[in-house]
Amino acid sequence: MDSFVYNSNPSRIIFGPDSIDGLPEELDRLGARRALVLCTPHQREKAQAVADRIGARVASIFDGAAMHVPIEVARKARALATELEVDCALAIGGGSTVGLGKAIALESGLPIIAVPTTYAGSEVTPIYGITEGGVKKTGRDLRVLPKVVVYDPKLTLSLPMDLTVTSAINAIAHAAEGLYAHDGNPVTALMAEEGIRACAASLQSLRDDPQNLAARGLALYGAWLCGTVLGAVSMGLHHKLCHTLGGTFDLPHADVHTVVLPHALQYNAEAAPQAMIRIARALGVANAPMGLFALAESHGAPVSLNAIGMDESGLDQAVELAVSNQYPNPRPLERAPLRKLLDQAFEGAAPAP
Ligand code: NAD
Repeated sequence: MDSFVYNSNPSRIIFGPDSIDGLPEELDRLGARRALVLCTPHQREKAQAVADRIGARVASIFDGAAMHVPIEVARKARALATELEVDCALAIGGGSTVGLGKAIALESGLPIIAVPTTYAGSEVTPIYGITEGGVKKTGRDLRVLPKVVVYDPKLTLSLPMDLTVTSAINAIAHAAEGLYAHDGNPVTALMAEEGIRACAASLQSLRDDPQNLAARGLALYGAWLCGTVLGAVSMGLHHKLCHTLGGTFDLPHADVHTVVLPHALQYNAEAAPQAMIRIARALGVANAPMGLFALAESHGAPVSLNAIGMDESGLDQAVELAVSNQYPNPRPLERAPLRKLLDQAFEGAAPAP
């Protein structure tokens, strides 16, 4: 057995259908009396329904959460939290809403209770991101890690199938890269393989019936495991590429992950054979990159950057950004093979060695 270091993040996880019924007790445990509820405009009604369960302890609902946490939105929410003297942020939504909670916590140290409604996984990571002047700055800080996460699969029944598929593949991406992380360890490897298996299996069932609660639970369980891997170890080429493409070219987050993942894994395949074996085993296929490409395609998810709004003229810049700051990755980052990777992803070709 090789030597390793494992840092576990201190979160309390409440999981299961109707687990949001336990929110009042969770607020009690934190000693919270005035919560600021956060959501996107689109999820206002759902947030209101959850807020109704905690009644007088809701100070206000802020429904301005937006993708990539624009600094202007963060400032508004921070000002409201200060003005209302809230003692807790209750984030009900996907990665964008949890991200807004993190932006508040980063400055104020306010505890966050997260109620995830997608499979993005941000709720179990100490990673934050705030966008200012078109540039998204990210960092790690334990202050932004939600204290409590309430995973209620019933809240994900409304997630449209296209977003369900790309969000689950976004989760798989965290686990896949975790399997070849330079600071990976046996514990995160177990979580990663099980997380990939759960996410992929859930999609098979949800294709037949998007309202299948057991399958929604399986997806959320997988998302928790995959997100936990993201929060515990470093990500490589795939996440850096997606960060660049999403941030610089304003492409939808989960879609970018879905398109790029098979190609990023193909890029690293020879340099990370053990990770590929585990990913393939979790998917029940012979080849990990091809298996992920097929998973996306067979569920009707986008498989080309072209289809999700990328302009071909931006590919050169994307390569330059990808090589401009080097980071640990199983295979060195080189211009020509990266350009080939992006060309294949742009066209939607199957990943080729
Ligand atoms: P999102 O939070 O932006 O949600 C996408 C859309 O789906 C929104 O319009 C939202 O209102 C809607 N939605 C969410 N849940 C729904 C539901 N159950 N039913 C119906 N509609 C629903 O998307 P996301 O993919 O969850 O999050 C993406 C953001 O999270 C990105 O900014 C990404 O960078 C960030 N992220 C951060 C981390 C981290 O660790 N910091 C991890 C993953 C993602």
